[in-house]
Amino acid sequence: MKQRDLSRVFDYVFVGAGISGPFIAKDLCAKGADCLMLEAGRQYTRKTYPDNGLDGTSQMYWAGGLELNHDSRIAFLRPKVVGGGSVVNQALVDRFDDDALDSWKQVSGISDFNTDAMAPWYEAAESEIEIQEIPSQFQNDNAKIFDRGFKKLGFKNAPLRRAQSNCRLEEGNCCIECLNGCRLGSKQSTPETVLKNALENGLTLVPETEVMQIKVLSGGDIRLSGLDGKGLQVNYKARNLVLSAGAIGNTRLLLNSGFGRKNSNIGKGFFCHPQYMSFGIYKEKINSHLGAFQAFKSDDQGFRKEGFKLENVYAGPESIALLVPGFGAAHHRYMEKLDHFACIEVCTRDITPGQIKVNRKGKALIRKMRNKEDLNRYQKGQKVIEDIFTSTGAKEIIHGRLGIGLHLMGCCALGTDPATSVVNPEFRLHSQANIFCADSSVFPNAPGINPSLTIMALSKKAAAQILRSVA
Ligand SMILES: Cc1cc2nc3c(=O)[nH]c(=O)nc-3n(C[C@H](O)[C@H](O)[C@H](O)COP(=O)(O)OP(=O)(O)OC[C@H]3O[C@@H](n4cnc5c(N)ncnc54)[C@H](O)[C@@H]3O)c2cc1C
Repeated sequence: MKQRDLSRVFDYVFVGAGISGPFIAKDLCAKGADCLMLEAGRQYTRKTYPDNGLDGTSQMYWAGGLELNHDSRIAFLRPKVVGGGSVVNQALVDRFDDDALDSWKQVSGISDFNTDAMAPWYEAAESEIEIQEIPSQFQNDNAKIFDRGFKKLGFKNAPLRRAQSNCRLEEGNCCIECLNGCRLGSKQSTPETVLKNALENGLTLVPETEVMQIKVLSGGDIRLSGLDGKGLQVNYKARNLVLSAGAIGNTRLLLNSGFGRKNSNIGKGFFCHPQYMSFGIYKEKINSHLGAFQAFKSDDQGFRKEGFKLENVYAGPESIALLVPGFGAAHHRYMEKLDHFACIEVCTRDITPGQIKVNRKGKALIRKMRNKEDLNRYQKGQKVIEDIFTSTGAKEIIHGRLGIGLHLMGCCALGTDPATSVVNPEFRLHSQANIFCADSSVFPNAPGINPSLTIMALSKKAAAQILRSVA
């Protein structure tokens, strides 16, 4: 058995145990690489995931739940937990279409961005997880309203593909709970899948350790310094570094470590698919929180051309309370009707790039604008939602007060040209060959499609590339 000697020089050190890191680590560890993974968040088990939304939000996200953009119109939810987004997300997995990959090819100059060349990487990613749709007998009333409205208005929808294995819905389980981590182990989060496998193959995982600085030593090795769970300074060394801390995490770390002087593109091109939830209030109880609350997505080429998609979603009462309008008694009156709420969200494909910078204390500052076209996309989607609610008998319709950013992408864009990108087609930083990155930060623009399956596919591709280069 390997000794837990963390002072040695590892082959690879990973910053971040979200989706990308564990997908790459699994393949490197299987080939005998000596890997260390540092994660700022806590490590939970099925038994210890928080059992309510307030604890889940405050314990498993950066800044205790929400970070805001510069004008406080978009709230970002950035996971901070072993497993990252795969633990707290809605587990919807979609491949990118030609439209998304073509636009990536144009921006990045990488010809491999097409559905044929990406297919083997999607297949490799899909082989690591189970993917299911919600059987029709378990669709709850929130899902049925979505479906009925689409049919009445003549729009096309499709079942959602979820990374789950057995939600035991026949026993009355409610999917809303899995937003704080799935207690059944059904959700195909990385701790249940690839991370587990990497640990079995020798990965050393150190949770509750925030990496603060990267230093390239004179011989080329990388030294990382950070703070452990007790606030004590820790240092680790490796021959290679894999950045897997997400768009904001990687950018903050690179800028705080002086890499902005080597490549001024770091931090530029931040996208987040701003999402806006709307609620239809019905006379009868909808009980959106019970059972499988999400089963459908829009699959309408008209919407895709207009730059938005609609999703059948819901959230815990602590999140909905934040979005519902009004204060005091007026707010309370809405919250009393929660059982009567149905919910649909419009997710926009944003075209205005934002930028992440750091202030003098090293804190990330998120500048994210929405131009006229971004707002136009949101308003068009919102109009369809209003039509769906009206056509299915809603008595009142309310719109969430804040845009939400869950798909945090970009800032270390992939590309062939160092003058316009940060990471090269071999997933190495243009400015430092032994630093790799294949997570959400490498997205060159917003695809308008759920990102996690593509993060997994890119990570599989990056792992193969890394292994080829050391063979
Ligand atoms: C509520 C919610 C719902 C979502 N639903 C979906 C969905 O249905 N489908 C979909 O495709 N996507 C969804 N997403 C988005 C998806 O989860 C993310 O795009 C994905 O997790 C990004 O993967 P990643 O590997 O880039 O980073 P992450 O999964 O965010 O992991 C990064 C990890 O790095 C750690 N880290 C950051 N900085 C440091 C540091 N300095 N030191 C140590 N560790 C650090 C973080 O704590 C985090 O755990 C959702 C996200 C949220 C929040």
